[in-house]
Amino acid sequence: MKKIVLASNNKHKIKEFKEILGVEILTLNDIGYFEEIEETGTTFLENALIKASTISEYLKQKGLNYDVLADDSGICCEALNGEPGIYSARYAGEHGNNKANRDKLISNLKDKDKTSYFICTIVLYSIDGSYEYKEGRTYGKIIEEELGDTSFGYDCIFLSDELGKTFGQASSEEKNSVSHRARALNEIKKII
Ligand code: IMP
Repeated sequence: MKKIVLASNNKHKIKEFKEILGVEILTLNDIGYFEEIEETGTTFLENALIKASTISEYLKQKGLNYDVLADDSGICCEALNGEPGIYSARYAGEHGNNKANRDKLISNLKDKDKTSYFICTIVLYSIDGSYEYKEGRTYGKIIEEELGDTSFGYDCIFLSDELGKTFGQASSEEKNSVSHRARALNEIKKII
């Protein structure tokens, strides 16, 4: 089976990539990469490319000839001109503080339209530096009450238009049938 390196250690993302792609996924831990990659880009694509090219360069130096997948994702709220967007993971300051990020978003959306969408941009990066990318989106509304599993980002406050429940309440199969990441991945799957 083909092996691809995923430039992430986020266990939720790794699970979703494995469920959808059907190829063997090596994580950053698997390839012994333990540095923090700084996301200095101004778009989802730039950040995904920073992660992919950094890991591809590392693999090249190790003599490992693997393609790399990298994603950058986030939630965008129409009433906040697309915020938190690329800053979704660090919206409240500290990187990865899900609860603080959600509370800040709920507070900033008080009395505003709650229409929101998740975006995921995925880059498939080859060892020769060439790449392709795909984007997926999914629409819903931010709600003030946390419903369902609270462990992954904004899942429990994102009421999916298509599922009629939050991503936190959805099964993996349900989330994968409509999610931004699944939509981008299904397009990537066609070119792997
Ligand atoms: P990054 O793509 O790792 O830079 O961070 C994306 C951030 O957006 C995550 O840390 C979450 O806060 C949020 N996010 C992206 N995709 C999802 C999702 O499927 N569910 C919940 N939150 C998500």
